[in-house]
Amino acid sequence: MPVSGLPPYDPGNVFARILRSEIPAKRIYEDEHALAFHDIAPKAPVHVLVIPKGEYVSVADFSAQAGAEAVAGFWRAVGEVARQLGLEGPGYRVLTNMGPDGGQEVPHFHVHIFGGRALGPMLS
Ligand code: IMP
Repeated sequence: MPVSGLPPYDPGNVFARILRSEIPAKRIYEDEHALAFHDIAPKAPVHVLVIPKGEYVSVADFSAQAGAEAVAGFWRAVGEVARQLGLEGPGYRVLTNMGPDGGQEVPHFHVHIFGGRALGPMLS
């Protein structure tokens, strides 16, 4: 059960289906802990999603319930994806949405990586 008060994990969510290769995605990175693919509706020149392989609804659940190795592996993958995309020099933004007020649409924990242009201040 999620610690966050959100509904239980739905194995039919779109990212779970991408993980199981039931629907296509523009995959750019995969290791034992994480999968990265291009967002279907990019909001920046580079807009990639990174998801853990475990079943976590949100960042709250991932933080509370994933093991240390899974957490470290996931964040290493985020950094590696950004590096492989050539974003380390110019910089980039990592963002996660959580719950209704956070605007979370897909109930499988994910982070967005935005880059490819100067993004300006947050929430502008
Ligand atoms: P959220 O608001 O943080 O949950 O963002 C979900 C993101 O998933 C949005 O940016 C969507 O454009 C993206 N998305 C939804 N379905 C797909 C898909 O099938 N492939 C890739 N990205 C998707």
